[in-house]
Amino acid sequence: MFSETSYYFRRAAQVMGIGERIQRLLEKPQRLVKVEIVVELDSGELGTFTGFRVQHNRARGPCKGGLRYHPTVDEDHSSALAALMTWKTAVVELPFGGAKGGIDCDPTRLSPGEVERITRKFVSEIHETIGPYSDIPAPDVNTNAQTMAWIMTEYSRIHGFAPAVVTGKPVELHGSPGREEATGLGCTYIIAEVIKRTGGTIADKTFAIQGFGNVGSHLARHLALRGGKVVALSDVNSAIINRQGIDIPAVLQHVAEHRTLAGFPHAEPFDRDELIYLDVDVLVPAALGNVFTRENAHLVKAKTIIEAANAPTTPEADEIFDKRGVLVVPDILANAGGVIVSYFEWVQNIQQFRWELEEIQGKLHRYMERSFKTVWDLARSKNISMRTAAFIVAIGRVGKATVLSGV
Ligand code: GLU
Repeated sequence: MFSETSYYFRRAAQVMGIGERIQRLLEKPQRLVKVEIVVELDSGELGTFTGFRVQHNRARGPCKGGLRYHPTVDEDHSSALAALMTWKTAVVELPFGGAKGGIDCDPTRLSPGEVERITRKFVSEIHETIGPYSDIPAPDVNTNAQTMAWIMTEYSRIHGFAPAVVTGKPVELHGSPGREEATGLGCTYIIAEVIKRTGGTIADKTFAIQGFGNVGSHLARHLALRGGKVVALSDVNSAIINRQGIDIPAVLQHVAEHRTLAGFPHAEPFDRDELIYLDVDVLVPAALGNVFTRENAHLVKAKTIIEAANAPTTPEADEIFDKRGVLVVPDILANAGGVIVSYFEWVQNIQQFRWELEEIQGKLHRYMERSFKTVWDLARSKNISMRTAAFIVAIGRVGKATVLSGV
């Protein structure tokens, strides 16, 4: 996976004509921490897991990025996702570098108590690597506000009260209003910006969303609030479709009760692998990476793809989309709403001053709108893809900070 994000980096670096010297400084992660986590499982047996924290680049500020709990977490994945965080924070102008990490566990097979013990043990292993002014984790796949609360309390036990060590905390425990829905809302703002330029309104478009976790569910809710017709949804083991538009408040209620989309009475079940081929206006991958490949990219019918997930498009698929004129808004721009409100949370923790939700959402909107415009205008003026344009903007900012700091 790292070689794929590097491919996008090098392609943009080439268009910019930046030298090999700077490329070498920016490409590889600066620090990689790998730890063994041994905990007692509920059965009384010992469970061993591997945890990672990769800091890709800190030229523009403390490292920032999520923690993922998933069997696919390894050095390569964490490095790729850490690099994406460097470019993401730069493209939306947050004063952070990029990091990512996680644990190679499967939380669906663990009790809440086991996840808590694994998390606390992980913090006891990496507490010298993270910190409010060095590296600030946040939620990602299969981690949430509760996980962040454990991290904050465990870190504070060792270092003293330090809410700014992690973002995405519960609002009741120094979290920020609006953080949980921020990625989904940010994607909605991006979709509105795209439609402003390509014609129509959200209310006359159809949407298919792959993934109904934190990002996909809030995105569906915000699209529906604006009259958008969400016709298909999928989660880890099911998918539902209704050409008239799925009743989103009802499906949210269903998922809150049953923890799955399966069995939702007002839509038809269908094969979840088919979702990406549906004939809709906007297709949103909002789950894991590597969704679009050389094999399937030419079968995608949607003309607009919004990358709510990180790294859903392989370089081969990206080239196919480019040739076919499919508009792809890249992950480092499309899903930046989460880290933007993480930044607001961090600032509030440092100020020890709570902002109002309206202020947070107003600022989120301005950050997304401004970043989108910069990337869109560059892509149009240079006749390049939005991904290459976003990387160019990001590499320019990180490169300048690096040169100004000195090697
Ligand atoms: N995990 C999210 C991302 O990939 C959020 C990171 C953060 O808030 O630091 O952007």
